[in-house]
Amino acid sequence: MTSITTEKEITLDEIQNFEGKYPKQLWYLFLSEMWERFAFYGMRGMLTIFMVEKLLLSEKDANLQYGATQAFVYTLAFVGGLFADKVLGFRKSIFWGGSLMILGSFILAVSPVSLFYMGISFTIVGTGFFKPNISTMVGSLYKSGDTRRDAGFGLFYSGINIGALLGGALCVYLGKHYSWNVAFSLAGVVMTISLLIFLFTKKTLGPIGLSPLIGKVSPNKIKIYDLMVYAGSLLSIPFILILVSKSEYTDYFMYTVGPLTLLYIIYEAFKYNAVERQKLLAAMIFIIFSIFFWAFFEQAGGSLSLFAAHNLKDEVAGMHIDPNVINNSSNSLFVIIFSPLIGLLWLWLSKRKLEPNTVVKFGLGFLFVSLSFYIFYYTRFFADAQGMTSLNVFTVAYLVTTIGELCLSPIGLSIMTTLSPKPLHGVMMGMWFLASAYGQYAAGLLGAGMATANEKAPLLEKLNAYTDGYKQLALYALIAGVVLIAISPIVKKLMHDVH
Ligand code: GLN
Repeated sequence: MTSITTEKEITLDEIQNFEGKYPKQLWYLFLSEMWERFAFYGMRGMLTIFMVEKLLLSEKDANLQYGATQAFVYTLAFVGGLFADKVLGFRKSIFWGGSLMILGSFILAVSPVSLFYMGISFTIVGTGFFKPNISTMVGSLYKSGDTRRDAGFGLFYSGINIGALLGGALCVYLGKHYSWNVAFSLAGVVMTISLLIFLFTKKTLGPIGLSPLIGKVSPNKIKIYDLMVYAGSLLSIPFILILVSKSEYTDYFMYTVGPLTLLYIIYEAFKYNAVERQKLLAAMIFIIFSIFFWAFFEQAGGSLSLFAAHNLKDEVAGMHIDPNVINNSSNSLFVIIFSPLIGLLWLWLSKRKLEPNTVVKFGLGFLFVSLSFYIFYYTRFFADAQGMTSLNVFTVAYLVTTIGELCLSPIGLSIMTTLSPKPLHGVMMGMWFLASAYGQYAAGLLGAGMATANEKAPLLEKLNAYTDGYKQLALYALIAGVVLIAISPIVKKLMHDVH
């Protein structure tokens, strides 16, 4: 360990002039994010079931509260990005966020029932500091214009999904069959591994992610500002606790936060020249479209999981599998398989000068999601007289959804770091995740609109209600994709040198 101090600090140029496909630091960030997502999706997978089984909430209330936690997690990513840009820098933010997540998990492990909302609130604030900032650091490994950037984010995205898949499966299994205390501890242990990997490898990041205040104010002042952010985030926890435990507050929160952040970005944009402003505008267009994307995509956690529970047979490719297992894990599995392949496809196309630009890739993302919702709709034609339909067709639809996600989500992360000026990297990454929060929120509303009013309705009626809804979503996604591709020449102009 101490021998490191005798080594020469690696410079930004040395990092960014790496040879081969990926910088080695990407693997460290990949591992750290993989374990963080394990803990996050492990926790996320446990929430609703735990609230129903142990907190004795009704299914409706559990769903609402689940939605609230998701909305807050991704909303606080904006705050985490903002404070990283202005005060802490990415490294200290990740350290602080990771520590809060560990604390949150162990609070839940010690007393899951009585300290439930407290543990969740720590985790929410922690994720806000961790998640956007580790993604931004990936972007910092590349020079502007490096064509390997999207492939790097593709790899990073696979790491996210390996963690999501393992965490989502293991934690819920442990919780349901052994003990919730053990399951929440596992999230804590894994999050500790994530943070240790980050701490032991951060030397390799050279100057990336250091405090933005270095050289601007004295070291003592930096310490005071840091402490103020730490104290402020701790003080916010009781408020988050109140907001999360009463899901009706979520609405007010969502109505106010979006417009305020938008005003803030406009205010920041005026500090920059016309080219930089136009790039920020392009980033905002991507962000706004992504809200719609996540609203469709996140049916996964809501209406699609109910559809899977009620209307699907349990056979896929000749094997018996619980349809909800397919619903919860096929997306991650497909990301892990297809993300590298799509990365290779982009590289292959770019060598032939055929690679679609980012706006068209986004448009394609919507077109694939549209196709996938047509397939979800199409399951109704495979249904038997009772309204039970094919898990095979459903799984194919998930494959197509995933291709759509891969055209949009990793690329969205990537361009947030190329379209924004450096001092706004964190905040724009936070905006990207804030859009997810709105997407999740809208997904809940769309899903609720699809459900039959009568929970005891016959299965065939449910099948028709959900698949009608999916046909509608397919049409909306198609419109969004076509609009995006139609306006792509304008957006491309706004992006200037970014492709
Ligand atoms: N599944 C991805 C992740 O966990 C994307 C999440 C999102 O942006 N909503 O990072």
